[in-house]
Amino acid sequence: MNLSRFPRIRYTEGYTPIEKLDKLTKHLGGPNIYIKRDDLLGLAGGGNKTRKLEFLMADAKNSGADTIVTCGAVQSNHCRLTLAAAVREGMKCQFVLEQRVPGSYDEMAGGNNFLFKLMGIEAVHVVEGGSDILGKMNEVAEKLKAEGRKPYIVPGGGSNEIGALGYVSCAQEILAQLHEKSLKIDHIVVTSGSAGTHAGMLTGMIGANAGIPVTGIGINARLNIQLDRVYNLCQKVADKLELKNNIEREDVVVFEDYIGEGYSRKTDGMVEAIKLLASLEGILLDPVYTGKTMYGMMDLIKKGYFKDCENILFLHTGGAPALYHYTDYFF
Ligand SMILES: *Cc1c(COP(=O)(O)O)cnc(C)c1O
Repeated sequence: MNLSRFPRIRYTEGYTPIEKLDKLTKHLGGPNIYIKRDDLLGLAGGGNKTRKLEFLMADAKNSGADTIVTCGAVQSNHCRLTLAAAVREGMKCQFVLEQRVPGSYDEMAGGNNFLFKLMGIEAVHVVEGGSDILGKMNEVAEKLKAEGRKPYIVPGGGSNEIGALGYVSCAQEILAQLHEKSLKIDHIVVTSGSAGTHAGMLTGMIGANAGIPVTGIGINARLNIQLDRVYNLCQKVADKLELKNNIEREDVVVFEDYIGEGYSRKTDGMVEAIKLLASLEGILLDPVYTGKTMYGMMDLIKKGYFKDCENILFLHTGGAPALYHYTDYFF
């Protein structure tokens, strides 16, 4: 796989660290747990969207865009980072924000919402949960065109075959690091949301013949929907890369057991996992994604899904800025 064929703007210098979580490993008494610190990626606050935006913003720039239109939930990390990238590139940015929890948009809310304002979002268009988000983004883009501007639509979560290249690239980065460290990893655990992360990582690992399975923890959609979403995006990424290796349905593994009542809703397991990582390792997870994923990994360890002798790599996809909006989940 030759990723240098695709235009890219770097937002992070070098690699993000892979660290061993000694205290968590000891506490859980099972496999060795390592963490890939993608919470330390570049742009405002770090997190997985930065990798996708490296390819998406390069594409936007090449198209001559002057305004980015994207969408997300009311506390979207993706929107925060897309805005940060737009600011970097001297472009304007507009959001379509979906109230996945009814009435959840509060113009004065903290967390990511505060950062939207701080970085100078041009306009926020709020829609109800389940609306035609792409339709609304197209409408916003058409209006901009009518004003003589050049909009570029970044899809939700940056998860199309261009954005997912960011996680193909991450897979290559991880393999280089494991080689340098002489570290053998047996499993990678990732959050599976809009699926660019999961699909990119899986395609990257299969494309490199790495033999490292990727386990996804769902945070939003029910199992069959999520399996299809990841599988379909893998096929598109594989086509873009002209990959010879096939990605089979069985390669896509997702657990739906840790979503709780729905996207961004509190679960006891999420709270437990966030408190544990903060107090044992000084690492901040987030309530919407990585807290649920970490709890899922802990529960799978307890259930014997991983062997005690194995080395597990947990992908930390970021999200901590949202913690400051959800403080009432904790104490
Ligand atoms: C968006 C996001 C995810 C999910 O990644 P997808 O590529 O959408 O599946 C995980 N963690 C955090 C912190 C995120 O912001």
